[in-house]
Amino acid sequence: MKLQEADAKSLLVAQGLPVPPWEVAHTAAEARAAAERFLSEGAEKVVIKAQVLIGGRGKAGGVKLAGSPDEAEQVAEAILGMDIKGMTVRKVLVGPAADIVKEFYLAAVLDRAERGILLMGSAEGGVEIEQVAAATPEAIVRLHAHPLLGLQDFGAREMAFAMGLGAHLKAAVAIAKGLVTTMKAYDADLVEINPLAIVRETAADGTIEERLVCLDAKITLDDSALARHPGLEYLRDPDEEAPEDKEAREAGLTFIKLDGTIGCMVNGAGLAMTTMDLVKRAGGEPANFLDIGGGARAEKVAAMRLILADPKVNAILVNIFGGITRGDEVARGLIEARAQQTRDVPMVVRIVGTNAAEAAPLLEEARFETAASLDEAAAKAVGASRRAAAGAVA
Ligand code: GDP
Ligand code: MN
Repeated sequence: MKLQEADAKSLLVAQGLPVPPWEVAHTAAEARAAAERFLSEGAEKVVIKAQVLIGGRGKAGGVKLAGSPDEAEQVAEAILGMDIKGMTVRKVLVGPAADIVKEFYLAAVLDRAERGILLMGSAEGGVEIEQVAAATPEAIVRLHAHPLLGLQDFGAREMAFAMGLGAHLKAAVAIAKGLVTTMKAYDADLVEINPLAIVRETAADGTIEERLVCLDAKITLDDSALARHPGLEYLRDPDEEAPEDKEAREAGLTFIKLDGTIGCMVNGAGLAMTTMDLVKRAGGEPANFLDIGGGARAEKVAAMRLILADPKVNAILVNIFGGITRGDEVARGLIEARAQQTRDVPMVVRIVGTNAAEAAPLLEEARFETAASLDEAAAKAVGASRRAAAGAVA
């Protein structure tokens, strides 16, 4: 689950990390009110940032500064409703604009190969880290947190020096440790600060000082660990979730979108992987898979519409291994799902295991194309997909 910048920042603040203040505005008038407040508190300008679950908002025109309430209202008006890489902006973050001296990159990620938390830092902040990794991999400093002791000060200090943050050592160490704490506290798989920035601030008495702050925040939570954090469920942004994903999640199904043309309905994660592999081996590309799980009842099969919602799907492969799941129940579900189907897409069905014998006559009567083995089913589905593609072109 990806969090909006404002929500990610709340979690950072809760872990004691330095984040400039902000407000979230849903309308230009709200943005104006927030800007008025920050400007009256002494900010020279405010920053207005699109809240969408995608990076590169700055480049896309979704991050702008404003020097007056009027200008803030105009800027917010322009950003709200903007389309950024296919996402509509429905809210903006408003905060005092930072006077940036230098931008850095710092992130904690889950390193699955090392089974630990990896910190990655770079003095090349503000730009996308993938670009830095490709162009100048040596510009990225890496450090693993100790599995039991966490991030240790000496390591964090060494990293801060290597990143060119020697002048802000204490703050840099605290932030690096804070990212690891945040990651663990919420079972996140990514906590990314880009930019982590040295900003110039003028105190009330006129003295100027430099401070290290988290100017942007991106956090993704491990979906499989969300059950451990029921309090975080409210951070799910309903505006940003695709309708199919929402329906699947609410029905307790796993629905994964891929890039190909063959929709796959399976029961069980292992069977899903095997089905993907065999579709690919037969020369096809899966468009998605819907895992209806064990003990799949007819109404779960009706979630077939999730598969069909993708216009790229031009053939469907149903691969069910009946254990607890009863084949005849799945067959009935398929018949019902097809009756409700708004789009006619060829379907190849393979059902083995419990009550497969009872399923066979139902499928035959309903004139489903069936297959005895998975190899055969995959070959048939790939063939159907190719014919559909050729038919569409002709
Ligand atoms: P992203 O493009 O989606 O990653 O959004 P960011 O929050 O990282 O903003 C993009 C860029 O806008 C940053 O790298 C900064 O250069 C700039 N920026 C963001 N906030 C401020 C701010 O408060 N003041 C100034 N001057 N620039 C900012
Ligand atoms: Mn950023």
